[in-house]
Amino acid sequence: MDGKLAISATGPQFALNEEQSAVRDMARAFAEEKIAPHAIRWDAEKHFPVEVFREAAALGMASIYVREDNGGSGLSRLDAALIFEALATGCPSTSAYLSIHNMVASMIDRFGTDAQRRDVLPALVEAKLLSSYCLTEPSCGSDAAALRSSARRDGGDFILNGVKQFISGAGATDLYLVMARTGAAGAAGISSFLIEKGTKGLSFGANERKMGWHTQPTRQVIMEDVRVPAANLLGEEGSGFKIAMTGLDGGRLNIGACSLGGAQAALDKACAYMQERQAFGKRLEEFQALQFRLADMDIALEAARTLLWRAAAALDAADPAATKLCAMAKKMATDTGFEVANQALQLHGGYGYLADYGIEKIVRDLRVHQILEGTNEIMRLIVARSLIGHA
Ligand SMILES: Cc1cc2nc3c(=O)[nH]c(=O)nc-3n(C[C@H](O)[C@H](O)[C@H](O)COP(=O)(O)OP(=O)(O)OC[C@H]3O[C@@H](n4cnc5c(N)ncnc54)[C@H](O)[C@@H]3O)c2cc1C
Repeated sequence: MDGKLAISATGPQFALNEEQSAVRDMARAFAEEKIAPHAIRWDAEKHFPVEVFREAAALGMASIYVREDNGGSGLSRLDAALIFEALATGCPSTSAYLSIHNMVASMIDRFGTDAQRRDVLPALVEAKLLSSYCLTEPSCGSDAAALRSSARRDGGDFILNGVKQFISGAGATDLYLVMARTGAAGAAGISSFLIEKGTKGLSFGANERKMGWHTQPTRQVIMEDVRVPAANLLGEEGSGFKIAMTGLDGGRLNIGACSLGGAQAALDKACAYMQERQAFGKRLEEFQALQFRLADMDIALEAARTLLWRAAAALDAADPAATKLCAMAKKMATDTGFEVANQALQLHGGYGYLADYGIEKIVRDLRVHQILEGTNEIMRLIVARSLIGHA
């Protein structure tokens, strides 16, 4: 495709059909009832809401794009984007963890053996087992193909050693999808493995103290002579990096969608606040400069959403430009989302800085979306590569 954008078979989406609207409304109602009322407390108490993930699973939201034959919801990437945006209006961090769990479940659905699918998918679909995606290491994040964790064959087993850094859900989750080196340096020497919590030699670092994303723990995953049967290899030996990157295309859309949802909630809060707050004898909503600012926030969000839906439709259609479009959409949605949420905080004046208004939490949560699942610099690198062949 030489980096040029193709109009995919499904075409860009400009309107949602009845089923898509119903999926979005279901997720929005769930966020309003089960997530939003508790989000500020969960953030303060650093509570990982496992019970809510199980309730979301009962509605099909823990296996959104796992195939129906394998017990999943069999929905599209566009449906997933609608769901994660809707859930993130309640809490971006909670929605984002569910996105990671969905990513792991779909990778097992797609690349797993019959036995792996039979053994773990039913429990992942019901969120009885929760999962983590383990790529990043202390010495390499963006340059993930340089990872050093090793997996050495020993008869019918592999023995894994190494440390994974910044792993979402770690310590509280049950199943770890780990990328480790089985061969020579570079991407082709990497394989992926499924490791269950409780396996001898697997341990976790302390919960990192961080700026946001407090409703999910972030820990190191430490492997010291962790022995797993070769049956725990996901996909072919040497295909682990490709598998990891395949998962990330959809993951990036989901993170972008979480940014849109958080920012939409912040914009809605700002509109409501400006109808009440008075300054200089007027309500804030009467100042035209502020009306224009609201309009710019809405325009930016809608533009980012449109690109995200376009990228999701491309991924659903297996368009060759999908990876590039997902990178574009992730960068635009996460930058825009952070900027809009930050503007909404500004429009609340000093009250925006107080935890009880819920705005500062959104700003803190959205900041990391510009960093993880590939930094926004790396998103530009992917786009630049498609333009000039190297970057
Ligand atoms: C809260 C949190 C949760 C996370 N969850 C997970 C998880 O569940 N699983 C997982 O595997 N990882 C996870 N990560 C890791 C995350 O994906 C990495 O932090 C991210 O990919 C960046 O890697 P790094 O931190 O090593 O930064 P580095 O790669 O060291 O980058 C440092 C800076 O240099 C820039 N840079 C690097 N290379 C280039 C280049 N070639 N051109 C231009 N700029 C460049 C980067 O954009 C960045 O600004 C998480 C991170 C955080 C903070």
